[in-house]
Amino acid sequence: MRLPLVNSDSPVLRAQAAPVTDLMKAVATAANLLQTMQAEVGVGLAAPQVGQSLRLFVTGVKGEPMVFINPEITERSKEEILWEEGCLSLPRLLGEVRRPKEVTVRATGTDRQPFEVKADGLLARVLQHEYDHLEGILFTDRMDDLRKLKRLTEEEWASRSEDKDRGGPKDET
Ligand SMILES: [Zn+2]
Repeated sequence: MRLPLVNSDSPVLRAQAAPVTDLMKAVATAANLLQTMQAEVGVGLAAPQVGQSLRLFVTGVKGEPMVFINPEITERSKEEILWEEGCLSLPRLLGEVRRPKEVTVRATGTDRQPFEVKADGLLARVLQHEYDHLEGILFTDRMDDLRKLKRLTEEEWASRSEDKDRGGPKDET
């Protein structure tokens, strides 16, 4: 089921999300998150973005759906890189954000087993962006200079969406 996204000024986007305790329910919610992410042509979506304050997000980098329940970032590389980010919760905005190049994330999967992913490139970027959503942080909070925030027109944003399944550094999460 495709879920509606909350507005950009919704308080749930600014709250620290609660740990998932009902795994069965989280697995069902994850399926809806994946469907919503794909419908929105994004590469990641966190539960708070659909109004559920839970520590749960999904990613779809290179078309591969992944589910992260109660994720923790256990390692961050010292090396940081600038990468342009967008967010389905902040339509038409793009901005460069500095973050660690590589991260290791530990989480519970839909099989209810723990797993670990060491990521670099786009996946590392998306994992950090989505994890921030669970902490009530938006990418604009991490920009060095908000004056560099780019505002696209509706048309530019929409045409960008059509390009998104190519994968790349400009995907919305
Ligand atoms: Zn986002």
